[in-house]
Amino acid sequence: MTPEKTVSPRGRDAIRIVPIAAPAQLFVHVKGVAPVAPPRLTYRGGPLLAQVEVYTVYLGSAWAAPAPGKVASDINRFFGTILASDLIGGLSEYSTGSYHIASGRFIGTTILSDVEPAASVTDEWIRSKLVELTNPGSALPPPNSNLLYFVYLPPGVSLVLGGSKSCQAFCGYHDQIDGKLFYAAMPYPNCNGCLGSLSTFQALTSTSSHELCEAVTDPIPGAGWYDDANGEIGDICAWQTRQVGEYTVQLEWSNKNNQCK
Ligand SMILES: [Zn+2]
Repeated sequence: MTPEKTVSPRGRDAIRIVPIAAPAQLFVHVKGVAPVAPPRLTYRGGPLLAQVEVYTVYLGSAWAAPAPGKVASDINRFFGTILASDLIGGLSEYSTGSYHIASGRFIGTTILSDVEPAASVTDEWIRSKLVELTNPGSALPPPNSNLLYFVYLPPGVSLVLGGSKSCQAFCGYHDQIDGKLFYAAMPYPNCNGCLGSLSTFQALTSTSSHELCEAVTDPIPGAGWYDDANGEIGDICAWQTRQVGEYTVQLEWSNKNNQCK
């Protein structure tokens, strides 16, 4: 049983989220219950973000204060390192057709102090802001076929996706708009379910790496590399981490090695 299926609602939403961390006993198979199918990602014909370009967006004035501002700049530094690391290089086994997965780039960032989230915001709100803010002449660069916006919410703001709430059912997700705009939505992990045994910054980098690798290999959820029983590349290995330099990242499923690596 994967943690996602144990603790998250079923259905489409569950395929693109980072599930909350749950006690280890929830992951243990009950005796006599058949194990789930062994993981195997198969390609469904959709696009990949082969040379991913990450742009980070910090919503709300809270990010302009010194402490959260430091977190934001640390996240940006993390992307600078991680996009050129073996985290992305290791995804090259999922290159296919005209999509040759190679190192990505961190292309920019902005703190949008005047876009103030309410205490609880919905995915629809995030999507409408992204559409509005990527109009020509607006605050964000226009979308392209490799661009991935990482949208970070400030501490204390809940995110609601299809009736599920951050910190209760998920810790982040990625999605797309009209097959043209790709984004990840990242609530601040100030809750036990989204920290597990990690520090806040480790949880942010682990969860961000989960969504990054999923967005590269399955930018239109379920239309890229996907496993009907186990979900996307990061879902199979949720909450298993390793270090890349100073950064904590999540393990990702490798078809080639038949394990999380
Ligand atoms: Zn996921």
